[in-house]
Amino acid sequence: MPEEIFPDLYRLKIPLPESPLKYLNSYILKSPDRNLIIDTGLNRRECLEAMQAGLAELSVDLERSDIFITHLHADHFGLVNKLARASNRIYFSRPEKELIESWEGFDAMIAYAGKNGFPEDRLRTALEKHPGNKYGSQWIPELSLLDDGDPIACGRYRFRCVTTPGHTLGHLCLYEAEQKILIAGDHILDDITPNIQCWTDGQNPLKWYLASLDKTAALEVERVLPGHRRLIGDHRARIGELKRHHANRLDEALAILANGPMTAFETAAQMTWDIKCDTWDDFPVMQQWFATGEAISHLRYLEEEGKVTREEVGRAEARRAEIGREKVGRDRRARRSGNGKGEGRKERGEGSKKIRYQLVH
Ligand SMILES: [Zn+2]
Repeated sequence: MPEEIFPDLYRLKIPLPESPLKYLNSYILKSPDRNLIIDTGLNRRECLEAMQAGLAELSVDLERSDIFITHLHADHFGLVNKLARASNRIYFSRPEKELIESWEGFDAMIAYAGKNGFPEDRLRTALEKHPGNKYGSQWIPELSLLDDGDPIACGRYRFRCVTTPGHTLGHLCLYEAEQKILIAGDHILDDITPNIQCWTDGQNPLKWYLASLDKTAALEVERVLPGHRRLIGDHRARIGELKRHHANRLDEALAILANGPMTAFETAAQMTWDIKCDTWDDFPVMQQWFATGEAISHLRYLEEEGKVTREEVGRAEARRAEIGREKVGRDRRARRSGNGKGEGRKERGEGSKKIRYQLVH
């Protein structure tokens, strides 16, 4: 059921089954000339049905519509291949088009996760269920690429494109200066913190993200239309919270590394997460993976700040350190639960070298 938020601007909630995000906010702009659909949902039946029902209710003719995608994640981009008509322009980010075109599967990501201490075999199995694998777009339609500042008009609205890298490499927002509306994708969300992960060496997504937050904080905005959950009124207050969240996370990572050098996976295991699990070992594998990606982005940031350094250690050495820490962990858990048995981790990472981070003293 579409709801009109501003004149001719509607929100359509697209269900995301089995996802804690619950639904995607797709925004539909109507005009006598051409319509604009912003973000689409996963490539699965529930999303397609909700989109088709919403468009029918709004009498939006897909043939006379264009589609804008905020970023490449499957919950935003996945359904495009079911919606796209030859007459549609599909607006997309330039760096993310290059990413999609050079994508050769999850292997490089899995190897990098392994290097960061993640048990690779468990990850490989879990990724088979990854929404990007199952519900991504099956083919890539022709894309109209956008750069920072590019205009997109629809009816009474005059948007310009704002590049906001961080959540993804080429994330895009749309800003309407006169109406003071920011269509934010997953750049700013309420209740939940957009995840900032790093899976490529040499990148610094958290640094990009904090800069993107400053960039959008400088805009005059009265209403943020995010990709999930509630609309946001005071964008600067929310941006302040998000920046404090990451400052706290950076402090937490430093405090954890004060116990000695460790991999990102081991660091993530000690960070606090808003997940209803008693221990790190109880986390679903995908949640461990997201958490490790977050830990890497924070460690990379601290590395560029000169507060931590990395060392690459051989497998045997990493394993010796792991055994030492497991023993400490077991003793700690045993003290808490009064039972020291059967808690050792069974699976091991397979990579030959591991990246360990340590404090700079
Ligand atoms: Zn999303």
